[in-house]
Amino acid sequence: MTDYGNWEPVIGLEIHAQLLTATKTFCGCATSFGAPPNTHTCPVCLGLPGALPVLNEEALRMAITAALAFGCTVQPCSIFARKNYFYPDLPKGYQISQYEEPLATEGSLLIDADLGPRTVGITRIHMEEDAGKNVHSAGGDSVVDLNRAGTPLIEIVGEPDLRSPAEAGDYMRRLHGALMFLGVNDGNLEQGSFRCDANVSVRKHGETTFGTRVEMKNINSFRFVQEALDVEIRRQTRLLERGEQLSQQTRGYNSDKRESYLLREKEGDAGYRYFPEPDLPPLRIDQQVLADMRASLPELPAAKRARFVGALGLSDYAAGVLTSHPAIASFFEQGLAAEAPATKLANFVQSELLRDSTTRGLQARFPISPEQAAKLVRMVEAGSISGKQAKQIYAEIRNTDRDPEQLVSERGMAVISDEDTLRKLAREILAAHPGQVGLYRDKGKTGLLGFFVGQLMKATKGSANPKLASALLKSELEGGDDGD
Ligand code: ADP
Ligand code: MG
Ligand code: ZN
Repeated sequence: MTDYGNWEPVIGLEIHAQLLTATKTFCGCATSFGAPPNTHTCPVCLGLPGALPVLNEEALRMAITAALAFGCTVQPCSIFARKNYFYPDLPKGYQISQYEEPLATEGSLLIDADLGPRTVGITRIHMEEDAGKNVHSAGGDSVVDLNRAGTPLIEIVGEPDLRSPAEAGDYMRRLHGALMFLGVNDGNLEQGSFRCDANVSVRKHGETTFGTRVEMKNINSFRFVQEALDVEIRRQTRLLERGEQLSQQTRGYNSDKRESYLLREKEGDAGYRYFPEPDLPPLRIDQQVLADMRASLPELPAAKRARFVGALGLSDYAAGVLTSHPAIASFFEQGLAAEAPATKLANFVQSELLRDSTTRGLQARFPISPEQAAKLVRMVEAGSISGKQAKQIYAEIRNTDRDPEQLVSERGMAVISDEDTLRKLAREILAAHPGQVGLYRDKGKTGLLGFFVGQLMKATKGSANPKLASALLKSELEGGDDGD
């Protein structure tokens, strides 16, 4: 827990998350990332005169899904509004957003706080459209790419309930994970699909009113949100300790210099001259549709994690790793469906599989399939191959669709657990080393058992069941030749 002396930080995050629709909020243009500049545009998202917006139903469904998942009340009627401002990446001269009547209000999220789990309030979730992108070239020219203009977003406004940068980081991570599990956001922070404005003020411990806040704009990494908040909290407390007054500001964060810097003194909302969007009707939500959607919400990562601990007996840490990404959770659950033993599969995923896997947004690449993984760990569980052999097999089937069971039988790799075979081998080993047998039997050098086990393993190229081999050698050494 970070200590700021007499000062208590108060933090509230505003998260902008792009909705994973194929097309934009109010037109049919594609939302795909990385197309040549200005190819995904039309009269609507360019703001040409006379073009009319039509709400994308998929975007609405995704926004409602998120709102329900965070326990918000979805309003029976909400209103789109125009937020007017001038900026080159905003061709209409206004952003369609929701203001006085948002889609959803009063939800919450459970976080891992400094002093244990705690519920953090979500003030509201509303729909809005994204702006385009200004691109600044090295030569000093600036150009605008409007492919992103009109992409659907939800803004999730959090209550000022967070009390440390670590809590803010955890809140951001959990929101991010939840939206990915809901399938409404691709989680790609580098591409700007999930962005955060962090509001922070400080006050003396025990005070009940809030101090003057600073809004830190557009932070797109979990690490930077914590770092930026820490740096800004220290700046604010330093000024206050000196007896200076803070003003309400919008600031940026420079991660190279580890400094926040002034973007502008905060204007009020009056500057935006909000008014209801005349081209869109009030958004009315059918209560039956809402009930159906609530009933079909997918399991969220926190619930899944608790279930993996409670029902499968995994450690909380393992369950946390397995629910850190929807594709990882799904791999694990498909492995279970293919009858892999839970703990062994969890260990395999954590210690081997994830090392060779990559995730990028919602996409994930795994070196083998859940079915291959299940077969592999099932053979280990059954004692038919050793853990070491499993690693070898895994290395060979990586990035192929080879069947691990078939490979084991082709290689004659299966662990020799057959008692008759092993007893015969044990006798051969003892017969080949009369000197050592003498020392063991007559001089009590029982430590030589390890030597005999080693010889037997060597003779079987490591494929003997080591426990059984050791027991049989011991009984041959100590029981004499009663077997004959
Ligand atoms: P704006 O629209 O200007 O961004 P809001 O009232 O919507 O203002 O608040 C935005 C965010 O600021 C919310 O996430 C809220 O939790 C947070 N916030 C409000 N007051 C404070 C404060 N005094 N200190 C820290 N965060 C605050
Ligand atoms: Mg704001
Ligand atoms: Zn368009």
